[in-house]
Amino acid sequence: MKLSPLKWILRCLAYVWASPYTIAGIAIGLILGGRFQRIDGVVEIFGPRIEKALGRMPMPAMAMTFGHVVFGVHAVALDVTRRHEAVHVKQYERWGPLFVPAYLAASAYLYARGRDGYRENPFEIEAYAVDTPDFSQRES
Ligand SMILES: [Zn+2]
Repeated sequence: MKLSPLKWILRCLAYVWASPYTIAGIAIGLILGGRFQRIDGVVEIFGPRIEKALGRMPMPAMAMTFGHVVFGVHAVALDVTRRHEAVHVKQYERWGPLFVPAYLAASAYLYARGRDGYRENPFEIEAYAVDTPDFSQRES
């Protein structure tokens, strides 16, 4: 797909804006010896040590997004969660370095009021709104 010059510049700016998390994600993926694949402009990383790390999170996850990097417990998990995580990638493009503080602040605000800081988090509500499994985009 060919982008107009303006859209191309905006795409570049989105990558730059989210890059602190993307760079951290790539570094973590290299340290954990993950397998890398690139799908739709996103680097996906999976492997046994990624699976172990995601399982040790306060809320164990099948996948987790860092900028333009998505970690998955394995390749199938990445397939299943791709649409959901793509929404988080767009959120990183919108919020840039502010994304994680904004996400955590929303969760803390909800938890402090006895509500579900994950499922009721506006960032998750937006992501779950498009959440249906999609097996059509897997590259081998
Ligand atoms: Zn999510």
